[in-house]
Amino acid sequence: MLEARIPSGPIEQKWDNCRYGMKLMNPANRRKHSIIIVGAGLAGAAAAATLGRQGYHVHCFSYHDTPRRAHSIAAQGGINSAKNYRNDGDSVLRLFKDTVKGGDYRAREANVYRLAEVSTNIIDQCVAQGVPFAREYGGLLDNRSFGGVQVERTFYARGQTGQQLLLGAYQALEEQIAGGTVTMHFRSELLDVVLVNGRARGIVTRDLVTGQLDCHAADVVVLATGGYSNVFYLSTNAKASNCTAIWRAHRRGALFGNPCFTQIHPTCIPLSSDFQSKLTLMSESLRNDGRVWVPKKKHDTRAPADIPENERDYYLENRYPSFGNLVPRDVASRNAKEVCDEERGVGPHGQGVYLDFADAIHRLGLQTVREKYGNLFEIYERITGDDAYTVPMRIYPAPHYTMGGLWVDYHLMSTIPGLFVGGEANFSDHGANRLGASALMQGLSDGYFVLPATVPDYVAANKLDPVSTSDSAFTAAKAEVKNRIDKLLGINGKRSPDSLHRELGKIVWDDCGMARSDAGLRKALARIPELRDEFWHNLRIVGTGEELNQSLEKANRISDFLELAELMCIDALQRTESCGGHFRVESQTPDGEAKRDDENFAYTAAWEWKGLGQSPAIHKEPLTFEYVPLSQRSYK
Ligand SMILES: Cc1cc2nc3c(=O)[nH]c(=O)nc-3n(C[C@H](O)[C@H](O)[C@H](O)COP(=O)(O)OP(=O)(O)OC[C@H]3O[C@@H](n4cnc5c(N)ncnc54)[C@H](O)[C@@H]3O)c2cc1C
Repeated sequence: MLEARIPSGPIEQKWDNCRYGMKLMNPANRRKHSIIIVGAGLAGAAAAATLGRQGYHVHCFSYHDTPRRAHSIAAQGGINSAKNYRNDGDSVLRLFKDTVKGGDYRAREANVYRLAEVSTNIIDQCVAQGVPFAREYGGLLDNRSFGGVQVERTFYARGQTGQQLLLGAYQALEEQIAGGTVTMHFRSELLDVVLVNGRARGIVTRDLVTGQLDCHAADVVVLATGGYSNVFYLSTNAKASNCTAIWRAHRRGALFGNPCFTQIHPTCIPLSSDFQSKLTLMSESLRNDGRVWVPKKKHDTRAPADIPENERDYYLENRYPSFGNLVPRDVASRNAKEVCDEERGVGPHGQGVYLDFADAIHRLGLQTVREKYGNLFEIYERITGDDAYTVPMRIYPAPHYTMGGLWVDYHLMSTIPGLFVGGEANFSDHGANRLGASALMQGLSDGYFVLPATVPDYVAANKLDPVSTSDSAFTAAKAEVKNRIDKLLGINGKRSPDSLHRELGKIVWDDCGMARSDAGLRKALARIPELRDEFWHNLRIVGTGEELNQSLEKANRISDFLELAELMCIDALQRTESCGGHFRVESQTPDGEAKRDDENFAYTAAWEWKGLGQSPAIHKEPLTFEYVPLSQRSYK
C-alpha cells in the first residue's frame, strides 16, 4: 500500500532524474486544468502562485480573511539554506546529514536530500522577490546558527522571518490573482475532501461568515493546511490552527504518518495562569547568545543576580560541550524538564529555566544585542513585564510543531491519488525531531519547487474525466458535513468547546507530551474516548449555523482533535523506542539520553482509518540509511 516512489540513481541525482522523467504539458493545455489548493500560508501561497504562473486555474482556499494572516507569519528566527556564505564548512551534503541526524533517523533520506538541494534556490527566489533578509555591513546576506548544527546557515529578517517570507509569497500570489489565474476563497473552511472513482476531485467548504456549504470540483486537490500542535490546547501556534483538513482527508482514506511525532520547543514563555489560552515562543535564535541555566540548589528563590556563578548550573553547556546551548530542541526541552523535575526550576511555579544575556551584552554591547533580537525582547517584556536586557528571560518548553501529518510519497502525494500535501501538513522531512529554521525551508521547498513539478506531472500523466459538483459523491459529502454540523448544534449541553479542548490538551500534554510511558499512554487511551463521548453529549454551542459562529468553528475542529489525539497515543504506544521528540521513559541510555531501537523501529508508521471506535491499521514504510549511516545521536 505504501509506495514511496523514490527515484532511482545516486542521491544527488534523484530529483533531477525524477523531474526528467515527468510528463510536461504545453502552456495552452494548462488552462484547461484546475487545481484546488487549501491553505495560503507559506506552502500554499507559494504553490498557488507558482502553479498559477504556469497557467493552471488555481482555486486557493483559506479560513483566514487574507493570506497574510496564515500562521506562517508568526515564524521568527529564520530559514536554513546550504549557501555556505560563511564558508564555515557547509554544503548540501552537510545540511542533508544534519537534518537526517537531527530527525533522529526517522525521515526518508531521498526527501531530505532534495530539501537540502532545493534550499539554495529558495534564498535566490526570495531575494528576487525582495524579501529583506538581514545583511552584514558590507551588504552580504547575514547568517546565524540554530540548534543541532555547527555552521551558520540560517537566513533571517530580525525576528520576523516568516512575516517577510509570507509577504514575498503573498505578492507573487497577488500578481496571479490580478492576472486571473488564481481565485481566492477567503473565510472558507474545508470540511471534507471528495473522491470520485478513487481520486481526490474536490472539497466541501463552509463559508465562515454566512454558514453556507459549497462544493468545489477540480483535477487535483492540494492541502497545505499547517500543523496540529493545538491538539495540546496550549501551544505556540496561532489559535485557529487545527487538524480538520488533514483529519477529514484521513477519514476518506489518506494514511496518517507518525502522528505522535510532535515537537516541544524549549524556549517559550512559561505558563502563568490556568486561564491562559496561548503560549508564546521566544525564538531559538536567542540561544545563539543567551545562556541557559538554573540554580544548583533546589528551591532557590534568590533573584538571579544574587546567585553567584559557582552556584549556577549551565546544564546544556556542561552536559553537551560540543553544541552547548545550541543542542537540538528535543534535547534542550528534555533537559529543561529534567532540571525542573529535580525542583531546580525558577519562577512562580518552578516551571522555568533562565535564558541569560548578561554575557552577550558584555561581549557584544547592548546595541548589538538590541539590533539582533530587539523585537523578541519587546514581545517578552510586553507579556511578562520584565526587561530581559537586565534580568534573564524565563523560558519553558511548549508544543510548537508537528512532524506527523498525512503520509506522502516522494511526489508529495498522499495515499489518495490526486491528493497532494505540502508544508507542515505532511509528515515528510523532519523525522522524529525538526531542526530549527527547517520548517520554512520545507514549506517553501514544497510550495515553490516540488509541488509545481509533481502536480503538473500527475495532471499530464493521468486521464482525468471532467467531474461536476452535481456528482453524487459531492452531494453525499455535503450532506454528511451538514449532518455533523446539525448534530453539534443540537447537543445543547453544558460545556463550552474551550473547556473540553482544555481538558483534552492536558491529557495529551501529560501523557503524550515530552515524556511518554506505557502506563500513561494507556491511561490517556482510556480517557480520550470518555471525553469524546462527553463532547458529543454535553457540548454547548451558542448561536446558529447560518452566521459567523466561532463557537461552532471551534467545536467542529475539536471534534477532530478528539479523534486525532487517540491516534497520537496509539502511535506513541506502539513505538516503544525513544527517538527525537518521542521520549519513552522505558527506553533511555544509562545517562538518561533517548535510546533508539533501529532494529525494530526504523520505519514510518502510516495509519489507516477504520472507523470511529475501531482500531486503526498500521502500515510501515521501512527507512534505509545509505548515505548517513545509522548511529546513536550525540551532541556531547
Ligand atoms: C511562533 C512560531 C515561530 C516559528 N518560527 C519558525 C522559524 O523561525 N523558522 C522555521 O523554519 N519555522 C518556524 N516555525 C514553524 C513554521 O512557521 C510553520 O511550520 C510554517 O509556517 C507552516 O506553514 P504552512 O504553510 O505549512 O502552514 P500555515 O502557515 O499554518 O498555513 C495554513 C493555511 O491553511 C489554511 N487552512 C488550514 N486549515 C484549513 C481548512 N480546513 N480550510 C481552509 N483553509 C485552511 C489557513 O487559513 C492557512 O492559510 C514557527 C512556528 C511558530 C508557531
